[in-house]
Amino acid sequence: IYILGIESSCDDTSAAILCNGKVLSNVVASQKIHEQYGGVVPELASRAHQQNIVPVIDQAIKQANIDKKDLSAIAFTRGPGLMGSLLVGTSFAKSLALALDIPLIDVNHMQAHILAHFIDEDEFDKPEFPFLAMTISGGHTQIVKVNDHFDMEIIGETIDDAVGEAFDKSAKILGLPYPGGPLIDRYAQLGNPKAFPFPKPKVGELNFSFSGLKTSVLYFIQKMVKENPNFIEENLNDICASLQYTIINILIDKLKKASKQTGIKHIAIGGGVSANSGIRKALKEGEHKYGWKTYVPKFEYTTDNAAMIAIVGYLKYLKKDFTDMAVVAKARIKF
Ligand code: ATP
Ligand code: FE
Repeated sequence: IYILGIESSCDDTSAAILCNGKVLSNVVASQKIHEQYGGVVPELASRAHQQNIVPVIDQAIKQANIDKKDLSAIAFTRGPGLMGSLLVGTSFAKSLALALDIPLIDVNHMQAHILAHFIDEDEFDKPEFPFLAMTISGGHTQIVKVNDHFDMEIIGETIDDAVGEAFDKSAKILGLPYPGGPLIDRYAQLGNPKAFPFPKPKVGELNFSFSGLKTSVLYFIQKMVKENPNFIEENLNDICASLQYTIINILIDKLKKASKQTGIKHIAIGGGVSANSGIRKALKEGEHKYGWKTYVPKFEYTTDNAAMIAIVGYLKYLKKDFTDMAVVAKARIKF
């Protein structure tokens, strides 16, 4: 069974081909244009998707060494994401499925960040049901109880900013280019995580809040730069390490709480921030400290990619869970 996956929810245009759940190709075109604006500009993202989508899909098919006619179905991201971006992938998927006369499968992007753990599953240790999935990305921060591939329950989420935004907005305050998350990670590895204490938000249950952290970083930096204009340059590693340490503590605290509450010790992470070296290390420590069994996706399946869309497509194909041509993109959807 050959599935073409198409992802266009934000600022990456991606296409992948999977054969029976194994990746044959996974092409990602990241849009550089947004860097100069310090964040994703929706209008420009949509236009770049229109330019990228045909060459990216062609390349995915070529790299997989198959013919379009071999495809069994097309899976695409229906949402959540930016409307103008989603529309490009949705329309393209529809017309290609129509032209090839094959089934069309709609995919929830956040479910895909979780089910990315089932890509190439016989080569890796995959999580056993039920497990807890913490999706930490540019637009979401959720703890999800995963009972089965398509039986998921959000048991905690952010009440304001996503954790990826906390990284990116803090990076912006430090004068780093967008997206700053990977850069903070890099500098953090060279710094002292206890150099500057940042406050942890008080929010109940299994929910998160990150907008206060961004504000305290801003006030702290403003104050320090007033005293020493070179404060950022002289302390960049320590600032990044301290910030990352605070963010990871917030995430691990909630995971501990969720694990205790549900009695589930199998824990997976997904989404762009799961590429972070600090969170990966902290999870591993959790195996010794709390008896967890943890799962981290392969690096290339953490940030947006079409292989994760295609794996959901494959799992839905097995259940004959197809969608019809009347399907429309949706900027906000839950599971
Ligand atoms: P969503 O999936 O919620 O719709 P998105 O698709 O835009 O949002 P992803 O592509 O999953 O988000 O993740 C992008 C985010 O991951 C960015 O905020 C980026 O800074 C962050 N990120 C990527 N690598 C790292 C890293 N090593 N450390 C911290 N953050 C990182
Ligand atoms: Fe994403």
